[in-house]
Amino acid sequence: MRYLITGGAGFIGSHLAEELLRRSHEVYVIDDLSTGSIHNIKHLKTHDKFHYVVDTVMNRQLTAELIDQVDIVYHLAAAVGVKLIVESPVRTIETNIQATEIVLSLANKKKRPTFVASTSEVYGKSLELPFREDGDLVMGGTTKGRWSYACSKAIDEFLAIAYWKEKKLPTVVARLFNTVGPRQTGQYGMVVPSFARQALAGHPITVYGDGKQSRCFTHVADVVRALIALMDKPEAYGSVFNIGNHQEISILDLAKQVREVAQSKSEIVFVPYEKAYEQGFEDMVRRVPDTTKIKNLIGWQPTVSLPQILTDVVEFYRRGP
Ligand code: UDP
Repeated sequence: MRYLITGGAGFIGSHLAEELLRRSHEVYVIDDLSTGSIHNIKHLKTHDKFHYVVDTVMNRQLTAELIDQVDIVYHLAAAVGVKLIVESPVRTIETNIQATEIVLSLANKKKRPTFVASTSEVYGKSLELPFREDGDLVMGGTTKGRWSYACSKAIDEFLAIAYWKEKKLPTVVARLFNTVGPRQTGQYGMVVPSFARQALAGHPITVYGDGKQSRCFTHVADVVRALIALMDKPEAYGSVFNIGNHQEISILDLAKQVREVAQSKSEIVFVPYEKAYEQGFEDMVRRVPDTTKIKNLIGWQPTVSLPQILTDVVEFYRRGP
Protein backbone atom coordinates (compact mmCIF):
# COMPACT_ATOMS: atom_id res chain seq x y z
CA MET A 1 0.00 0.00 0.00
CA ARG A 2 1.04 3.61 -0.52
CA TYR A 3 0.45 6.12 2.25
CA LEU A 4 0.71 9.90 2.48
CA ILE A 5 1.42 11.36 5.92
CA THR A 6 0.92 15.10 6.26
CA GLY A 7 3.05 16.29 9.15
CA GLY A 8 5.18 13.19 8.64
CA ALA A 9 8.31 14.83 10.06
CA GLY A 10 6.51 15.50 13.32
CA PHE A 11 6.70 13.40 16.44
CA ILE A 12 3.77 11.04 15.77
CA GLY A 13 4.06 11.26 11.96
CA SER A 14 7.67 10.11 11.94
CA HIS A 15 6.88 7.10 14.13
CA LEU A 16 3.94 6.23 11.86
CA ALA A 17 6.17 6.50 8.77
CA GLU A 18 8.74 4.23 10.39
CA GLU A 19 6.17 1.57 11.28
CA LEU A 20 4.53 1.61 7.83
CA LEU A 21 7.95 1.19 6.19
CA ARG A 22 8.71 -1.67 8.60
CA ARG A 23 5.54 -3.31 7.30
CA SER A 24 6.88 -2.92 3.73
CA HIS A 25 4.55 -0.13 2.64
CA GLU A 26 5.48 2.89 0.52
CA VAL A 27 5.41 6.16 2.45
CA TYR A 28 5.16 9.76 1.23
CA VAL A 29 5.61 12.59 3.69
CA ILE A 30 4.79 16.28 3.39
CA ASP A 31 5.89 18.58 6.21
CA ASP A 32 6.68 22.29 6.31
CA LEU A 33 8.98 21.74 9.31
CA SER A 34 7.15 24.43 11.29
CA THR A 35 7.04 22.20 14.36
CA GLY A 36 8.31 18.96 12.80
CA SER A 37 12.01 18.39 12.26
CA ILE A 38 14.11 16.86 9.53
CA HIS A 39 16.01 15.05 12.31
CA ASN A 40 12.89 12.99 12.98
CA ILE A 41 13.06 11.40 9.53
CA LYS A 42 16.73 11.51 8.70
CA HIS A 43 17.14 7.79 9.44
CA LEU A 44 14.38 7.04 6.89
CA LYS A 45 15.80 9.07 4.03
CA THR A 46 17.85 6.23 2.56
CA HIS A 47 14.91 3.82 2.57
CA ASP A 48 13.89 3.16 -1.04
CA LYS A 49 10.17 3.23 -0.19
CA PHE A 50 10.38 6.57 1.63
CA HIS A 51 9.73 9.89 -0.12
CA TYR A 52 9.44 13.30 1.46
CA VAL A 53 8.86 16.87 0.46
CA VAL A 54 9.39 19.96 2.59
CA ASP A 55 6.37 22.11 1.83
CA THR A 56 3.01 23.07 3.24
CA VAL A 57 -0.24 21.21 2.71
CA MET A 58 -1.61 24.64 1.70
CA ASN A 59 0.27 24.12 -1.58
CA ARG A 60 -2.82 22.65 -3.23
CA GLN A 61 -1.24 21.46 -6.41
CA LEU A 62 1.53 19.60 -4.68
CA THR A 63 -0.82 18.08 -2.12
CA ALA A 64 -3.16 17.00 -4.94
CA GLU A 65 -0.28 15.29 -6.73
CA LEU A 66 0.76 13.49 -3.58
CA ILE A 67 -2.78 12.34 -2.79
CA ASP A 68 -3.07 11.10 -6.36
CA GLN A 69 -0.08 8.80 -5.82
CA VAL A 70 -1.28 7.05 -2.68
CA ASP A 71 -4.01 4.71 -1.45
CA ILE A 72 -4.52 6.14 2.05
CA VAL A 73 -3.97 9.58 3.62
CA TYR A 74 -3.01 10.27 7.24
CA HIS A 75 -3.61 13.94 7.96
CA LEU A 76 -1.50 14.75 11.00
CA ALA A 77 -0.22 18.21 10.00
CA ALA A 78 -1.48 20.67 12.63
CA ALA A 79 -0.44 23.34 15.08
CA VAL A 80 0.27 21.51 18.35
CA GLY A 81 1.39 22.35 21.86
CA VAL A 82 -0.52 24.51 24.33
CA LYS A 83 2.31 27.06 24.51
CA LEU A 84 2.38 27.55 20.75
CA ILE A 85 -1.39 27.78 20.63
CA VAL A 86 -1.58 30.45 23.29
CA GLU A 87 1.23 32.43 21.67
CA SER A 88 0.09 32.04 18.03
CA PRO A 89 -3.68 31.61 17.90
CA VAL A 90 -3.98 32.89 14.31
CA ARG A 91 -1.54 30.30 13.08
CA THR A 92 -3.32 27.59 15.08
CA ILE A 93 -6.78 28.35 13.76
CA GLU A 94 -5.67 28.86 10.17
CA THR A 95 -3.38 25.84 10.01
CA ASN A 96 -5.81 23.47 11.63
CA ILE A 97 -8.90 24.45 9.70
CA GLN A 98 -7.53 25.37 6.27
CA ALA A 99 -5.15 22.43 6.01
CA THR A 100 -7.88 19.94 6.87
CA GLU A 101 -10.29 21.56 4.38
CA ILE A 102 -7.68 21.25 1.64
CA VAL A 103 -6.72 17.65 2.44
CA LEU A 104 -10.32 16.44 2.68
CA SER A 105 -11.47 18.19 -0.49
CA LEU A 106 -8.52 16.81 -2.48
CA ALA A 107 -8.84 13.33 -0.96
CA ASN A 108 -12.51 13.42 -1.89
CA LYS A 109 -11.75 14.05 -5.56
CA LYS A 110 -9.83 10.76 -5.66
CA LYS A 111 -11.88 9.09 -2.93
CA ARG A 112 -8.79 8.27 -0.87
CA PRO A 113 -9.64 7.06 2.65
CA THR A 114 -8.39 9.74 5.04
CA PHE A 115 -7.49 9.68 8.71
CA VAL A 116 -7.84 12.97 10.60
CA ALA A 117 -5.95 13.40 13.87
CA SER A 118 -7.88 15.11 16.63
CA THR A 119 -7.23 15.54 20.32
CA SER A 120 -8.63 14.90 23.79
CA GLU A 121 -8.51 18.70 24.12
CA VAL A 122 -11.90 18.78 22.34
CA TYR A 123 -13.57 17.51 25.54
CA GLY A 124 -12.57 20.85 27.03
CA LYS A 125 -13.87 21.40 30.54
CA SER A 126 -16.27 18.47 30.49
CA LEU A 127 -16.58 16.70 33.83
CA GLU A 128 -18.23 13.57 32.40
CA LEU A 129 -15.31 11.25 33.10
CA PRO A 130 -14.14 8.99 31.56
CA PHE A 131 -14.67 10.83 28.27
CA ARG A 132 -16.78 8.94 25.74
CA GLU A 133 -16.74 9.82 22.06
CA ASP A 134 -20.45 10.72 22.11
CA GLY A 135 -20.13 12.94 25.20
CA ASP A 136 -20.58 16.71 25.24
CA LEU A 137 -17.67 19.02 24.40
CA VAL A 138 -17.42 21.90 26.88
CA MET A 139 -15.41 24.89 25.69
CA GLY A 140 -14.36 28.05 27.48
CA GLY A 141 -14.84 31.59 26.15
CA THR A 142 -13.42 32.83 22.86
CA THR A 143 -11.17 35.38 24.57
CA LYS A 144 -9.17 32.51 26.02
CA GLY A 145 -6.70 31.47 23.32
CA ARG A 146 -6.38 27.89 24.47
CA TRP A 147 -9.88 26.96 23.36
CA SER A 148 -9.17 27.96 19.76
CA TYR A 149 -7.24 24.71 19.46
CA ALA A 150 -10.12 22.58 20.72
CA CYS A 151 -12.61 24.44 18.51
CA SER A 152 -10.44 24.22 15.41
CA LYS A 153 -10.01 20.49 15.95
CA ALA A 154 -13.74 20.09 16.57
CA ILE A 155 -14.38 21.77 13.20
CA ASP A 156 -11.92 19.33 11.61
CA GLU A 157 -13.93 16.48 13.12
CA PHE A 158 -17.25 17.88 11.89
CA LEU A 159 -15.76 18.25 8.43
CA ALA A 160 -14.35 14.73 8.32
CA ILE A 161 -17.67 13.25 9.43
CA ALA A 162 -19.58 15.44 6.97
CA TYR A 163 -17.40 14.25 4.08
CA TRP A 164 -18.31 10.68 4.98
CA LYS A 165 -22.01 11.35 5.44
CA GLU A 166 -22.53 13.64 2.49
CA LYS A 167 -19.90 12.58 -0.03
CA LYS A 168 -19.08 9.02 1.01
CA LEU A 169 -15.40 9.84 1.45
CA PRO A 170 -14.09 7.22 3.90
CA THR A 171 -12.80 9.19 6.91
CA VAL A 172 -11.73 8.19 10.40
CA VAL A 173 -11.12 10.57 13.32
CA ALA A 174 -9.11 9.75 16.44
CA ARG A 175 -8.79 11.82 19.60
CA LEU A 176 -5.31 11.34 20.97
CA PHE A 177 -4.80 11.59 24.72
CA ASN A 178 -1.34 12.96 25.64
CA THR A 179 0.83 10.89 23.34
CA VAL A 180 4.46 10.75 24.43
CA GLY A 181 7.70 9.04 23.49
CA PRO A 182 11.09 9.61 21.92
CA ARG A 183 11.39 12.60 19.51
CA GLN A 184 8.64 14.63 21.13
CA THR A 185 9.96 18.11 21.76
CA GLY A 186 9.26 20.11 24.89
CA GLN A 187 9.63 23.29 22.87
CA TYR A 188 5.90 23.84 22.56
CA GLY A 189 5.09 23.10 26.17
CA MET A 190 4.51 19.33 26.30
CA VAL A 191 5.02 18.24 29.85
CA VAL A 192 6.92 14.94 29.69
CA PRO A 193 9.80 16.05 27.42
CA SER A 194 9.96 19.35 29.34
CA PHE A 195 10.30 17.56 32.68
CA ALA A 196 12.79 15.04 31.26
CA ARG A 197 15.08 17.78 29.95
CA GLN A 198 14.83 19.79 33.14
CA ALA A 199 15.58 16.75 35.31
CA LEU A 200 18.57 15.67 33.21
CA ALA A 201 20.02 19.18 33.21
CA GLY A 202 19.55 19.49 36.98
CA HIS A 203 17.30 22.50 36.40
CA PRO A 204 14.13 23.11 38.44
CA ILE A 205 11.16 21.02 37.26
CA THR A 206 8.35 23.48 36.55
CA VAL A 207 4.94 22.25 37.71
CA TYR A 208 2.22 24.64 36.53
CA GLY A 209 -0.61 25.48 38.92
CA ASP A 210 -0.79 23.29 42.04
CA GLY A 211 0.17 20.09 40.18
CA LYS A 212 -3.08 18.37 41.16
CA GLN A 213 -4.32 18.36 37.57
CA SER A 214 -3.89 14.92 36.04
CA ARG A 215 -3.33 13.33 32.65
CA CYS A 216 -3.14 9.86 31.10
CA PHE A 217 -0.07 9.31 28.93
CA THR A 218 0.07 6.93 25.97
CA HIS A 219 3.23 5.68 24.29
CA VAL A 220 3.54 6.69 20.65
CA ALA A 221 4.13 3.04 19.62
CA ASP A 222 0.70 2.10 20.99
CA VAL A 223 -0.87 5.07 19.19
CA VAL A 224 0.72 4.19 15.86
CA ARG A 225 -0.56 0.61 16.14
CA ALA A 226 -4.08 1.95 16.63
CA LEU A 227 -3.83 4.39 13.71
CA ILE A 228 -2.78 1.64 11.32
CA ALA A 229 -5.40 -0.85 12.48
CA LEU A 230 -8.22 1.72 12.29
CA MET A 231 -7.57 2.51 8.63
CA ASP A 232 -7.74 -1.21 7.86
CA LYS A 233 -11.35 -1.37 9.10
CA PRO A 234 -14.13 -0.05 6.85
CA GLU A 235 -16.40 -0.25 9.93
CA ALA A 236 -14.39 2.67 11.34
CA TYR A 237 -15.38 5.03 8.52
CA GLY A 238 -17.32 8.09 9.63
CA SER A 239 -16.50 7.46 13.30
CA VAL A 240 -14.51 9.10 16.10
CA PHE A 241 -12.28 7.06 18.43
CA ASN A 242 -10.49 7.84 21.67
CA ILE A 243 -6.91 6.59 21.78
CA GLY A 244 -5.42 6.74 25.25
CA ASN A 245 -4.21 5.08 28.38
CA HIS A 246 -6.33 4.75 31.52
CA GLN A 247 -3.52 5.11 34.04
CA GLU A 248 -3.99 8.59 35.47
CA ILE A 249 -1.25 10.57 37.22
CA SER A 250 -1.16 14.04 38.74
CA ILE A 251 1.39 16.41 37.24
CA LEU A 252 3.13 16.75 40.61
CA ASP A 253 3.54 12.95 40.86
CA LEU A 254 4.70 12.93 37.27
CA ALA A 255 7.43 15.44 38.15
CA LYS A 256 8.54 13.21 41.02
CA GLN A 257 8.58 10.10 38.83
CA VAL A 258 10.53 11.76 36.03
CA ARG A 259 13.05 13.02 38.58
CA GLU A 260 13.46 9.49 39.91
CA VAL A 261 13.83 7.88 36.48
CA ALA A 262 16.43 10.50 35.53
CA GLN A 263 18.17 10.04 38.92
CA SER A 264 18.11 13.79 39.22
CA LYS A 265 18.41 16.11 42.19
CA SER A 266 16.34 18.86 40.52
CA GLU A 267 13.99 20.73 42.82
CA ILE A 268 10.31 20.85 41.90
CA VAL A 269 8.94 24.39 41.63
CA PHE A 270 5.37 25.61 41.19
CA VAL A 271 4.70 28.18 38.47
CA PRO A 272 1.34 30.00 38.36
CA TYR A 273 -0.61 29.42 35.14
CA GLU A 274 -0.68 33.12 34.27
CA LYS A 275 3.12 33.16 34.31
CA ALA A 276 3.45 29.94 32.33
CA TYR A 277 0.81 30.79 29.70
CA GLU A 278 -1.33 33.92 29.91
CA GLN A 279 -3.66 35.80 32.23
CA GLY A 280 -6.90 33.90 32.79
CA PHE A 281 -5.53 30.62 31.42
CA GLU A 282 -7.83 27.67 32.05
CA ASP A 283 -6.40 24.17 32.40
CA MET A 284 -8.23 20.87 32.13
CA VAL A 285 -8.28 19.29 35.57
CA ARG A 286 -8.64 15.66 34.49
CA ARG A 287 -8.61 13.89 31.18
CA VAL A 288 -9.35 10.18 31.14
CA PRO A 289 -10.43 8.28 28.01
CA ASP A 290 -13.11 5.66 27.69
CA THR A 291 -11.61 3.32 25.08
CA THR A 292 -14.42 0.77 24.88
CA LYS A 293 -15.23 1.78 21.30
CA ILE A 294 -11.79 1.16 19.83
CA LYS A 295 -11.34 -1.97 21.92
CA ASN A 296 -14.59 -3.42 20.61
CA LEU A 297 -13.76 -2.63 17.00
CA ILE A 298 -10.10 -3.58 16.65
CA GLY A 299 -9.21 -5.06 20.04
CA TRP A 300 -6.81 -2.20 20.75
CA GLN A 301 -5.46 -1.64 24.23
CA PRO A 302 -2.39 0.30 25.36
CA THR A 303 0.53 -1.95 26.29
CA VAL A 304 3.31 0.39 27.44
CA SER A 305 3.18 1.34 31.12
CA LEU A 306 3.93 4.81 32.45
CA PRO A 307 7.31 3.87 34.02
CA GLN A 308 8.36 2.41 30.65
CA ILE A 309 7.18 5.52 28.80
CA LEU A 310 9.15 7.77 31.13
CA THR A 311 12.26 5.60 30.85
CA ASP A 312 12.04 5.77 27.05
CA VAL A 313 11.76 9.56 27.00
CA VAL A 314 14.49 10.12 29.58
CA GLU A 315 16.83 7.74 27.69
CA PHE A 316 16.10 9.57 24.45
CA TYR A 317 17.12 12.90 25.98
CA ARG A 318 20.05 11.37 27.81
CA ARG A 319 21.45 10.24 24.46
CA GLY A 320 21.35 13.65 22.91
CA PRO A 321 18.90 16.14 21.56
N1 UDP B 1 2.66 21.37 32.54
C1 UDP B 1 3.49 21.63 33.63
N2 UDP B 1 4.77 22.03 33.40
C2 UDP B 1 5.30 22.15 32.14
C3 UDP B 1 4.46 21.85 31.04
C4 UDP B 1 3.13 21.47 31.28
O1 UDP B 1 3.06 21.53 34.80
O2 UDP B 1 6.48 22.50 32.00
C5 UDP B 1 1.28 20.91 32.82
C6 UDP B 1 0.20 21.65 32.03
O3 UDP B 1 -0.20 22.82 32.69
C7 UDP B 1 -0.90 20.60 31.99
C8 UDP B 1 -0.13 19.27 31.94
O4 UDP B 1 1.18 19.57 32.41
O5 UDP B 1 -1.68 20.63 33.16
C9 UDP B 1 -0.06 18.68 30.56
O6 UDP B 1 0.44 19.69 29.69
P1 UDP B 1 0.75 19.46 28.15
O7 UDP B 1 1.03 20.79 27.55
O8 UDP B 1 1.79 18.41 28.00
O9 UDP B 1 -0.58 18.83 27.54
P2 UDP B 1 -2.13 19.19 27.71
O10 UDP B 1 -2.69 17.97 28.33
O11 UDP B 1 -2.33 20.39 28.57
O12 UDP B 1 -2.58 19.40 26.32
